[in-house]
Amino acid sequence: MFDLPDLPYDPEDLQPVISAETMHFHHDKHHKKYVDTLNAALKEARSFSGSLEDIIRASRDAEDPAATKIFNNAAQTWNHTFFWNAMTPNSGAPGADLTAAIQRDFGGLEALKAEFVKEGEGHFGSGWVWLTAKDGTLKVISTHDADDTVARGDLIPLFVCDVWEHAYYLDYQNDRGGFLKAWFDALPNWALADAQFAASRGDGKPWSHPQPH
Ligand code: MN
Repeated sequence: MFDLPDLPYDPEDLQPVISAETMHFHHDKHHKKYVDTLNAALKEARSFSGSLEDIIRASRDAEDPAATKIFNNAAQTWNHTFFWNAMTPNSGAPGADLTAAIQRDFGGLEALKAEFVKEGEGHFGSGWVWLTAKDGTLKVISTHDADDTVARGDLIPLFVCDVWEHAYYLDYQNDRGGFLKAWFDALPNWALADAQFAASRGDGKPWSHPQPH
């Protein structure tokens, strides 16, 4: 049984970039639905257990519809909890090591922002745009629908932004690019990104989802 984790801040704290109304719908309705559906599907299937990461890895490439349902809802549960933690009203700035890597791999923070926005804006349909690291090398990727970084070997996400329409439509209507630009300027949790980057180089453990009970 997985719980819907509380937001790590108040729903109005990310204004004006994300309205309290969007946060309420997104967390209290959308995220909750994924958690509830996952719990019901796990009860029915009984063949998946362990951490949320274990369940995502075990269900991702399974071919029966019950496993696909578990994968979709498990990954969406993970993605949303990570997304809430990857944002903060006290965004700050990347630390020295990450700043140097951003310079090396993108040419600077503005160039990273441009690539992140382009990737998220260009992603056709629903999905997620991520800043990732593998063995200390940074890369921007997008994943489709529920898919994420969990079942992709040692790829570590530094942060993610939700590009499903429910993430921005109330505030930005169809302007996904405008949402991503405002998001990148104000909300990335750079302290978490620093820790995730260190973990990708073997220093500490990456973020993991709260355990089931
Ligand atoms: Mn979402």
